[in-house]
Amino acid sequence: MVPQGAMNSLNPVMRIGDQLMLTIREHTEEGEIPDKNTQLKQVEELFYRVGLKPAVARLYPHELSGGMKQRACIAQAISLNPQLILADEPTSALDVVVQRQIMQTLRKLQNELDATVLLVGHDMGLMAQFAERVGIMYGGKLVEVGPVEDIFHNPQHPYTQLLISSIPNFEIKGEFRGIPGVGLSLLDPPTGCLFHPRCPKAIDRCKSVEPQLKEVAADQLVSCLLHEEDQHAPAS
Ligand code: SF4
Repeated sequence: MVPQGAMNSLNPVMRIGDQLMLTIREHTEEGEIPDKNTQLKQVEELFYRVGLKPAVARLYPHELSGGMKQRACIAQAISLNPQLILADEPTSALDVVVQRQIMQTLRKLQNELDATVLLVGHDMGLMAQFAERVGIMYGGKLVEVGPVEDIFHNPQHPYTQLLISSIPNFEIKGEFRGIPGVGLSLLDPPTGCLFHPRCPKAIDRCKSVEPQLKEVAADQLVSCLLHEEDQHAPAS
């Protein structure tokens, strides 16, 4: 897992190299734990793969820039050769130049490991550039899933449509368009479709019937009553 806030995820009183060696030791069978020199070599190899110099091993987190900290977290995340890398907004605290470098590093490692990256985030531009499939969530539930081109060029769920139309566009000048209403409270969620209090396309059934994720096109799933065949059937 690559965490969101690298500074909060690294141990502030432990050298970066020691933190990575600890990870390696904790996940190696007893009796097979390599000696310290070998562990250090493994750490340096990981640093090389994420673009950090070997000397970083002796530094503490506060001595690293934001991008270096994030690279150290990525090194830790790949130290066990994962098949799945969960990246939780890995670049939200970084400027756009470093953001691009980090995402390029993540892409390179993904290819090297032949791994899947599950990228969590709010930055739709980043998603459009990095992801192959996108899942849109509202109130903790998936409301639309599909290939990135379909989600951005032909969104089917009203929430996805509003999200896409709220992205500022340099070519089409106009008023900023937000999403009406406020986010829901998970302590007291609405009945029926969670999005109905804010949905400009809501129908009566939306207040009482919870829509299910259904395939509406090849490889595209949507959770909206407007896409359900039995939308006119009486609510149970
Ligand atoms: S089910 Fe109803 S409220 Fe929910 S997104 Fe579809 S139209 Fe809007």
